[in-house]
Order: sequence, then structure tokens, then C-alpha cells
Amino acid sequence: MKVTDLPAALSLQEYRGIIGEEKIAVLEDLAGRLNGVTFQEINSTRSGGGVAEILNSYIPFLKALGLETTWSVMEAEAPFFDVTKTLHNFLQGRDGFSPLMIEVYWETLRRNEGLIDDDADVVTIHDPQPLGLIEYATRSDLERKRFIWRCHVQLETLSVDTASEIGRFMRKLVEQYHASVFSSLQYLPLWRVPSFIIPPFIDPLSDKNRDLTGQEIDGVLAKYGIETEKPLITQVSRYDTFKDPVGVIEAFRRVREKVPCQLLLVGGRACDDPECFLVLRNVRDAAEDHPDIHILDLPPDSHLEINALQRASAIIVQKSIKEGFGLTVSEGFWKGKPVVGGNVGGIPLQVRDGWNGYLVSTVQETADRLVHLLKNPDLAGRMGARGKEFVRENFLLPRGVHDHLTVADQLVN
Ligand code: UDP
Repeated sequence: MKVTDLPAALSLQEYRGIIGEEKIAVLEDLAGRLNGVTFQEINSTRSGGGVAEILNSYIPFLKALGLETTWSVMEAEAPFFDVTKTLHNFLQGRDGFSPLMIEVYWETLRRNEGLIDDDADVVTIHDPQPLGLIEYATRSDLERKRFIWRCHVQLETLSVDTASEIGRFMRKLVEQYHASVFSSLQYLPLWRVPSFIIPPFIDPLSDKNRDLTGQEIDGVLAKYGIETEKPLITQVSRYDTFKDPVGVIEAFRRVREKVPCQLLLVGGRACDDPECFLVLRNVRDAAEDHPDIHILDLPPDSHLEINALQRASAIIVQKSIKEGFGLTVSEGFWKGKPVVGGNVGGIPLQVRDGWNGYLVSTVQETADRLVHLLKNPDLAGRMGARGKEFVRENFLLPRGVHDHLTVADQLVN
């Protein structure tokens, strides 16, 4: 399915004000070198989760640079997503993937074999779900086009390399690509494919991240019946055990014994995640109707709502136990909030312990850091301000576009 409802091409002018003229000029130069090259992005969901979030802004930005870009989403149903969720869990170090599941995988891939555009020159395939599409590229496709596998998950190299059957399955596919891209050096498998490291990024001008008026923020708080007399601690994430929402509730209960505050868990469902209903039920059970715990289950287009809730918060938490990158961390920083994040995956790329937030590994550590920040709002303010500047330097959309275009330039020119 082609995505046709994207916002029109953005205006680069507004980004100049945020990152400076020079960086945009470099981008325009790079885009000039790629003049005439057509890009195609392929993933498995139109909304929900970080990849859809990134593509939503990335594609209009490429268009603003004058580059032709399309976005295709695989067609797939529940049994396929059960399999790919298990594969995703497996890649992040959890058992459960069986070779039998590979059959279900190929059934869906076969149905999507026509997804690669004839006239695309650089085809980027995101994550394990559509990875196998490379099998449907013809010999001439492989000669004329450049195929990139963009892996967003926290790939546990060890399990992928040692679990023979799945490891071989993945490796055989990935090695047919011209290049692969990972979010962090630590995920790089030792496979024979040229690999690049590109940390993800957020769009400072999207509804998720743009500045909001006090009125807009108040409107959202009123909509969900949230008062802010007591400071809000917020975690935004899909209801997924790797995000450890139940651990956040446990930490909150310990904090609540020492400092008045409220917890806000903001989540929704990604259509490729069959486990989220179960996790949401466990979260509700763990909260036991605590009057200061708010659990929201939002539709996937709640960008402005999430923006407002992050802005209304005193502290952002992302207590993941596995995390490819964690866009929600950069989103929190961009709103000037300190972030308490799990010391895993891509979170330490963003949180510098004790400088713009804290890295934590246990429920108790999470609780202690939250109490410290709640008792020291000046420190929290300083950390949040540093976080925002760190994101401006490292994790905004134009930097991400620059890195991806540099890879494309190396592959086609
Ligand atoms: N998000 C959302 N609605 C939700 C939960 C998350 O829009 O109910 C967004 C969140 O703001 C972020 C992205 O989805 O932009 C999640 O990306 P992240 O890298 O944090 O995690 P992923 O879901 O990719 O594991």
C-alpha cells in the first residue's frame, strides 16, 4: 500500500531558525548531488511506534530538498504480526521463535512481492518485517537499484549469531543488501554487509514536538481530566513489556511514599504488536485504580496530545529494559524535561547520567532518582535545558536526513 496522505513538503525555512543556515546549506548541497535519484521507504505500519514516526517527517523533508520519495507499507494480518513480534522479541534476546514461524513469514512476504517500485533507485527496507522482500528483487533490480536494510531494533548480536537457524535465516537475507544501517555501534552484527551507524531523530516542527501555547496544553489536560497541582511523572510508550510499564508503576509507588506526585502512562497500540492488549491489562491490574496513576490508551494520531502531556510533565521516564533508540527520550528533552531512562540500548546515547538526566537499572534506582529530581526542581530544570541543547546538536531530523543522504550518496555516486 502506498502512503498518500503525508503532509505536503515542509518548508526548510523554519528549520533554518532551529539549526542554523549552515547545516541546511550542507543538506541542499548533498541533495544536489543526488538530483534525479528516486527513493523508496518500505515498512510494516502506517502509524504507531518509532519507524512510522520517523518516516512521517523524513519523507516530506526529502521532498522539500527536491528529492522524489515514496513510502510503501506492507499488507499483512495478525498471524504475520504474531510471528514478527516473536522474531523482534527474539532479536532483543527473548526465546520463543521457532523455525516453523518462518513459513508464516514467507506467506505474507509472497503477497507483498510487488511492493518494490520499478523506478526507485534507493530502496530502504525497515526492520525485520519486510526484510525478506529482497528475495523478490530481480537480478536487474539488484544491479540497477541500491537496497538498504534499516534495522531499528536493539539487535542482540550474540543471539543472532549463535542461534543457528534464525541467525542464518537473517544473515542470508541481510547479506543480499547493498548496505545496512543500525542505530548504534553495539548492534552491529558481524555479517558481510557494509554497515553504517545512524542514530534516529525527532522532528522539532511536527505536532509531536512543535512549541505549544499554554492554551493548547491546558486543553489537552482538560480533555483527559488531568490536574497538575502535583507534579507529573510521565512515560510515553507502546504497551510492551520491553518498556517495563509495570516497573514504572512499582517505582512510582515508592516515590509516592516520599513526595506527592502523579504518574501518567501514555500509550497506544501499534497494529503490528499483538501483545499490547495483554500488557495494557497487566498495567491496569498493577495500578489497582490508584487515584494518582493515569493510564491513557490513545489512538495513533495523538501527536499533539502527547506533545502537550510531555510539556505538562515535571519528569519524563523511559524505564525500558530493551530499547533500539527510544525517540521518547529525545522528545522529552526537546520539551526541556530531565529524563530518567533505562541504561539499555539507545538510551545511554541520549541520557548522560547526572548531566541531563539519570540512567537506571532497577526499580529502586528509578524511584531514588525520581525523588531526587522532584525535591530539586532547579536541578531538574538545568538538566532539562541541557537535554534540549543536546538534542538540538545530535538528534533532530536534518541531521538524520544528512546521514541517510550521505549513505545514499556513497552507494549511488
Ligand atoms: N508514540 C505514540 N503513541 C503512543 C506511544 C508512542 O505516538 O501511544 C510515539 C512516541 O511519541 C514516539 C514513538 O511513538 O515518537 C515511539 O518511538 P520509540 O523509539 O520511543 O519506541 P518504539 O515504539 O519504536 O519501540
